Amino acid sequence: MPRHAVVRPCRRTEDVGSDVAAWAARSSARFGARALALAGLGLVAAAAPAAGQSTTGGAAPVSPAPVSKTAPATALAPAPTANLYGRPAPQILRFACRTACASATSARAGSLVRLTGRNLKRVEEVIFVGADADGADDASVVPRSARNRALAARVPRTAQTGRIAVALRDGTRSPATALALTVESAPPVLPSGAIDAEAQGHKVFFGAQRPAELSYVVGGSQPANVLVELIRGADGAPIAQWSPGEVEPGVPQTVRWDGTAAGRVQRDGVYQFRVTATDPSGLRATSSQEPTEPVDPEAPGAFTFLGYRFPVAGAHDFGEFAASFGGGRGHQGQDVFAACGTPIVAARGGTVKFKQYHSRAGYYLVIDGARTGTDFVYMHMREAALVDKGDKVKTGQPIGFVGDTGRASGCHLHFEEWTGPGWYSGGAAFDPLRDLRAWDAQS
Ligand SMILES: [Zn+2]
Repeated sequence: MPRHAVVRPCRRTEDVGSDVAAWAARSSARFGARALALAGLGLVAAAAPAAGQSTTGGAAPVSPAPVSKTAPATALAPAPTANLYGRPAPQILRFACRTACASATSARAGSLVRLTGRNLKRVEEVIFVGADADGADDASVVPRSARNRALAARVPRTAQTGRIAVALRDGTRSPATALALTVESAPPVLPSGAIDAEAQGHKVFFGAQRPAELSYVVGGSQPANVLVELIRGADGAPIAQWSPGEVEPGVPQTVRWDGTAAGRVQRDGVYQFRVTATDPSGLRATSSQEPTEPVDPEAPGAFTFLGYRFPVAGAHDFGEFAASFGGGRGHQGQDVFAACGTPIVAARGGTVKFKQYHSRAGYYLVIDGARTGTDFVYMHMREAALVDKGDKVKTGQPIGFVGDTGRASGCHLHFEEWTGPGWYSGGAAFDPLRDLRAWDAQS
């Protein structure tokens, strides 16, 4: 932090200690103190287990004899371990192919596979583990739906026969299933004039690890000349296009979009990839009917594009007047209360400007948001941020944990937004609550 910076405390009446030694002592007891802190805030949140402890215990659960239509997944798999958040890792107990299947354990590209298990709600990636030990032939997709005990995902067109694993946003992976899912190598033969297209994620954030991605297969028996367009759902206008040229039938293809068009980051909303293929005889096919307005987010190739992600990845609360911008004391941000240790993710990717400790801000981080002119500030983190000064950060990337370092009563994220040129360098803080509420509602 620049020397002239004045950080406003979130609570001026309580100074819970500011030196690092005091923090370290509190930190070691943070899990035990959590329930107390939460009670004071009126928050309701499930207490996470202590770091290193798995709520599933050490032994794999004993499953009844597998039903003929499902495959037991953990008979030989190791028990999951807790992730770096101290939460239990996700675990797959069974899987079954549900649509376009040869059998419960045999699928094709595009088949819907249902996984049942534990702690699946926050899964962000379903990994179809290929044969290569180095993971070169792994394929992954975002789940279609995820609840704590069940999750559904489509088999990506690039998937190989192999075991299945799932991963959280921070990369924590479940053990792979003991049994493999057979992926029929011969894709269903699409008739001439048919195009099978699907967006690989249904919610895509600008600057995130996973860009908007389309996978598609052209039908028929001859190569076709392909044009891919990106349609803006709000008005049906094409805003970007790709011309891959001659494409072989039956061979999965992918297209990625970086969230910009004509050099500008596009607005939040529904977008749709549309594939048009023309075969040598002049037969023209399109992956979707003429787009409706607005585009149906469930239509083939459609997805929702968002510029920001809500920064607290867990149950949270915006508190009362004292937590608001101003707060009667020149409070320069909005407090977001959450259980100590709740992951904090970057609302917007960008470049880390400052990563420091301050007696009042505690462990804090300032990110210059990519293509925003805005600085995003995160304070009172449980410990030093997970990223370093100068690092390029992705939208939604874990950057730390909610804590109460510095002058804070109760664990919370103190979040600030500053106009350009930025935080204590000529910009001005503005009330971030409107943004936070909007991001909270959609992400
Ligand atoms: Zn605050």
